[in-house]
Amino acid sequence: VSGKFPRTEKRKSGEPLTLVLSSGGIDSTVAVAMVLSQGQAVETLFVDYGQAAAAAEERASAAVAAHFGIQRCRLRLDGLAFGAGEIRARNAFLVHVALLAFPRNTGTVVLGIHAGTPYADCSEAFVDETQRSFDMHTGGAVSVSAPFVGMDKGAVFTLGLELRLPIALTHSCEAGDEPCMTCLSCQDREALLASS
Ligand SMILES: [Zn+2]
Repeated sequence: VSGKFPRTEKRKSGEPLTLVLSSGGIDSTVAVAMVLSQGQAVETLFVDYGQAAAAAEERASAAVAAHFGIQRCRLRLDGLAFGAGEIRARNAFLVHVALLAFPRNTGTVVLGIHAGTPYADCSEAFVDETQRSFDMHTGGAVSVSAPFVGMDKGAVFTLGLELRLPIALTHSCEAGDEPCMTCLSCQDREALLASS
């Protein structure tokens, strides 16, 4: 894993931090807007793990962080390549990279997963399992939060509209730089935009 993350040791003090895993998509961006609206100290983490849309996601996550005026860090895992669709253990990897890189002693890692997909790592069981792992590693100092795990995509989108989410800045397609209009994420986005 390579990338730019401010030296962790210097920052390991002070207030708890909320670190949102940002893919630049709608769900994680709603999560950023929500925790900011709650007055939390927020930073985002973008990880390029070889996903097909990494370049577009990175641009979107940078634009989202700039929009909200918050610090964003990026990390990159070299050597893997993925297409659209479920990526086994992706979220397990991402939350543990976030814990590895976590720049404070205490806080929360936020994941924008929502209900309505068949993916194992978008479930309440996954969140519970992750919290057990975090507890083992941190003695309860760092939590995982998935505020939308019980909400469907439409409810997350509605919340995003209420929070005046900058939807135009986000990127949803799993297949690459330009929206393919056929992957599940493109279809979801079109349906949401049509209904709003
Ligand atoms: Zn697509």
